[in-house]
Amino acid sequence: TPFAEDDLGTHERIVHAHDERSGLRAIIAIHSTLLGPALGGTRFYPYPDAGSALTDVLRLSRGMTLKAAVSGLDLGGGKAVILGDPRRAKTATLLEAYGRLVESLGGTYITAGDVGTTSDDMDVIGRTTRHVVARTAAAGGSGDSAPMTALGVFEAMRAAAGRTWGAPTLDGRTVGVEGLGKVGRHLVALLVEDGARVLAADVDPQACADVSRDVPEVTIVDRVVDAELDVYAPCAMGATVSATTVPGLTARIVCGAANNQLATPQVEDELSARGVLWVPDFVANSGGLIQVAGERTASTADDVRSRVLAVHGTVDGILALAAEHGETPGRAAVRVAQARLDDARTRAGGG
Ligand code: NAD
Repeated sequence: TPFAEDDLGTHERIVHAHDERSGLRAIIAIHSTLLGPALGGTRFYPYPDAGSALTDVLRLSRGMTLKAAVSGLDLGGGKAVILGDPRRAKTATLLEAYGRLVESLGGTYITAGDVGTTSDDMDVIGRTTRHVVARTAAAGGSGDSAPMTALGVFEAMRAAAGRTWGAPTLDGRTVGVEGLGKVGRHLVALLVEDGARVLAADVDPQACADVSRDVPEVTIVDRVVDAELDVYAPCAMGATVSATTVPGLTARIVCGAANNQLATPQVEDELSARGVLWVPDFVANSGGLIQVAGERTASTADDVRSRVLAVHGTVDGILALAAEHGETPGRAAVRVAQARLDDARTRAGGG
């Protein structure tokens, strides 16, 4: 891929689909099935053009390979995008057509929710494919993965706080949460409960109003990235940490739920030069994947919760490794994932 600056290799398979009848336009990208079937959510988004949808799905699916590998899950990496505005284009007919597309891949790709899709949508997709997780509890799934994603982000942030300030708590710290969607709204509640002062922003006024009602301690602001902060938590779309925003960042820690937070891999060097600790996104936001992976092993909710709490230890280990080798946390995390993939490759090759 044009993005690989490591040795993760190219994508195994990229499927473009256009179904005239339902209007479905989708791309499914299977990055790797080395550790197991490629699992990753379906993003339903009004991309400006097909090229940006392809760029997004290639980057996201590669991130899923890293996420599963670093979390110790027997899953590969994949992701899908449906092009269009979910508020207008999302119909049962379209989701069923999409389910048939997933089914045609024979289980090499397993889908789940993401931006623009919900557990209810997974129930509809599940009418035409078996290869779907994160359906509603009523349909036999584990439901919305956002609460577990938020819990994992919170634990990742506590681990980073421990490394930075000596105690694994956000008590008395100012945390800026950007994006108050499915994950962000759960994260703010956990932070307030831990004693943090929370500044939050969302482009959707309704999302801000919902959070103000549910967690009145939160201060709604227009922008968080350049506010006076101890921690910046990107929980909206990716690429908000860039050469443009890093110079204005006052936070000592960047840790959030968004995928692909760094505009380019080099941004991490700029963060590190300014003494900012970045918790790699694919580690911080692994709670949702850990939850849905539990469906495949028939894990209980308690088992899943303790595995999500263990994100704290995973992050701590990566930060320790980075410090020991004098490298950035992102590179350390990629190295951990890479080692597992190399091992699997050697075994697959009979070596
Ligand atoms: P969501 O669509 O429910 O919420 C995203 C929110 O961000 C929306 O409320 C939207 O209005 C807001 N937003 C968009 N652009 C913004 C901007 N420029 N400034 C401020 N707010 C903005 O999505 P979600 O499920 O909460 O996921 C959030 C992020 O976390 C995404 O990047 C997603 O890929 C990632 N993620 C989610 C999960 C999960 O379990 N849901 C798991 C891993 C990663």
